Amino acid sequence: MASSIQNNRVSAPGYCVCCRVCNMWCWRAFKWLPVLLIVSIVTWSYYAYVIQLCFFTIESTVQQCVYWVLYHILLMMFAWSYWRTIFADIKPIPDKYKLPDEELEKLLSAESEDAQRTILENFAKDLPIVTRTMSGSVRYCNRCVLVKPDRAHHCSICSRCVLKMDHHCPWVNNCVCFHNYKFFMLFLGYALLYCLFIMSTCLPYFIRFWKGDFGTAASAGRYHIVFAFFVSLMFAISLGSLFGYHCYLVANNRTTLEAFRAPMFRSGADKNGFSMGAYNNFKEVFGTSPNLWMLPVFTSLGDGCEFPVRREHQLQTFTTPQETNGYESMGTTRSRGGLRD
Ligand SMILES: [Zn+2]
Ligand SMILES: [Zn+2]
Repeated sequence: MASSIQNNRVSAPGYCVCCRVCNMWCWRAFKWLPVLLIVSIVTWSYYAYVIQLCFFTIESTVQQCVYWVLYHILLMMFAWSYWRTIFADIKPIPDKYKLPDEELEKLLSAESEDAQRTILENFAKDLPIVTRTMSGSVRYCNRCVLVKPDRAHHCSICSRCVLKMDHHCPWVNNCVCFHNYKFFMLFLGYALLYCLFIMSTCLPYFIRFWKGDFGTAASAGRYHIVFAFFVSLMFAISLGSLFGYHCYLVANNRTTLEAFRAPMFRSGADKNGFSMGAYNNFKEVFGTSPNLWMLPVFTSLGDGCEFPVRREHQLQTFTTPQETNGYESMGTTRSRGGLRD
């Protein structure tokens, strides 16, 4: 671990000439293409559903109104969640985790891995971290020059460490992490409902099309409705499996990264180390106010740096009201000072 430590605070990334000229704008624009694709599909689905189905195909005014209202409620919730996931205010790692220049100098001039390890241990002794690397060392990012808080990881696409990193999602052009995980879950849930709604309401018209009895709909319009049925079916299948998987992760308090590699504690790897029971795990992401659970407003508990851990991983507990950060309602305590002894 330590032998790979280098001073990246001053080193320039090795971009190609083209990227140096355009200051990476070509890469930044390229990363928005998946978002543009989703926005284009949703815009087309609006035309197919509202114009072709509601206005030109459905004959009952009551049915038109009911479909129109339900569709717009789902679209609004989906778009709101998607927007918040993309443009979430992802806060940087707090300064107390960053190595000051004098510590960095000591680290770079250390002659052995053991010496580097000791420097990091001393620096991290007052930080609230309980997880380690596979070799038992303090988790350190030499690109951001900081000790990683529990569950934080470096994202090579965002070029920074992010708190409680789940994964980098190209479909939202952002890291899914502590600050937008609730929004991401709601985005998946509302996108699934949006697709299921379009699919189920287009189904009768799809059957009529198949039977050759499509009423007075214009010939081009009916293809939009049939295509809307197929596209929503396809997205509902993929979104359903992804949403189901993330419900499982929330219930077990794991990130996608932790599902692939269990977090390492002083006593060893434990994939359930952060799990405090399904309901508490749910509240850790969605908060303690049921009336805000389904809204894309930030209600996750804690600060993204410290998390409740199982009793066997706690070294020292504290439950003073100022320090509980919203966790007191879960009846749990947090671990602190994982490197102290
Ligand atoms: Zn980093
Ligand atoms: Zn990222």
